[in-house]
Amino acid sequence: MNWMENELEKLAHASNQRHLRDSATSPERPGHIVRGGNSLLDLASNNYLGLAGHPDIIQAICETLQVEGAGSGASRFVTGNRSVYGRLEAALASWQQAEASLVMANGYMANSGVIVALMGRGDVVFSDQYNHASIVDGAVLSRAEHARYRHNDLEHLEALLHKYRDKRRKLIVTDALFSMDGDRARLHELVKLKRRYDAMLMVDEAHSGGVYGEKGEGLCHELGLHRHVDVHIGTFSKAFGIYGAYVAGNNVLIQYLMNKVRPLIYSTALPPSLLAGIMAALHLVQTEHWRRNHLRSTSEWFRSALTNAGFHVGEGDSPIVPIMVGDNEQALRFSEALEATGIAGIAIRPPTVPVGTARIRFSVSSAHTFDELRQASVLIKKVGNQLGLLTS
Ligand code: PMP
Repeated sequence: MNWMENELEKLAHASNQRHLRDSATSPERPGHIVRGGNSLLDLASNNYLGLAGHPDIIQAICETLQVEGAGSGASRFVTGNRSVYGRLEAALASWQQAEASLVMANGYMANSGVIVALMGRGDVVFSDQYNHASIVDGAVLSRAEHARYRHNDLEHLEALLHKYRDKRRKLIVTDALFSMDGDRARLHELVKLKRRYDAMLMVDEAHSGGVYGEKGEGLCHELGLHRHVDVHIGTFSKAFGIYGAYVAGNNVLIQYLMNKVRPLIYSTALPPSLLAGIMAALHLVQTEHWRRNHLRSTSEWFRSALTNAGFHVGEGDSPIVPIMVGDNEQALRFSEALEATGIAGIAIRPPTVPVGTARIRFSVSSAHTFDELRQASVLIKKVGNQLGLLTS
């Protein structure tokens, strides 16, 4: 096992070894988290709409737990398919204005499982270089050709579409909102290209679901493009504040996936209580517009406050606001110093982001007040100055 020790040493040497640390929720202080006994402003979680501790969700989970028990006992195709699945999938399809939907265990399994089900030898997956790891893994596991295009570079994508024009099936896949940069995919152009080259389009709305769209349907709806997306993926782990994921699309797609997605067929169904919690969250996502509106204003304000302070925060208008640092060790130091001032802001390092682009990735939540973000921005600037990250 020496080689593993060597690998770990290499990671440690590059300030790139990961460690687990305990975090606890802070029920009496929304938008905060407890680490090492200290309450910190939580700018690290993806709880965009502040729903993770919502009493309606907790009540729905507890009530169903009492009636249905803790576990579902088997795969959906055996005995795990409780009636709440059907109700939730009908509600999701209606919300998404899609013919049908399919609930999956989580976003990782949804992305990887769906790509493997759709694609195989002789096919080609066109994937943005910044797409989530679950998309990359799905493409690799599918045994299709994996054509990665430079981030949001549609000339590069078109050149690849042209190169592989004679392949059997083609799938263009993209995050709607890129998780580590907070910028958007160029969805209008992607729709044009998918039509021009007769490809399918799959969009992962993990970070944009709940946040964009009149009822939180996602960025594709906000842009009026949802009818052109063949495979729509969303998660319940971020804005919904819980866990799980779904695919939405037409009846044929959903029937096909039901028969082919291996993580669905060969894995135990989600606990019924969790599904009841998702149902409650779906209602809140659709109706509590004030959460989205507040989040938009605070995210915009926070982004410009950091820009004005002299940080390079990248492009975008989303609640994901990264401060680019570059060096791994410096990013770690930044994160530690933030924690000492009462802010949870996590250092993101390779391979999650390209080498030399380590960063602190902040996620704003509708649970945060303007005051909290104002104070945070002052502290972040102070820490940035102390570490010599700001020249002005
Ligand atoms: N897609 C994207 C873009 C993500 O950021 C994530 C989670 N980090 C996932 C999919 C996976 O979702 P889940 O956490 O539900 O497995």
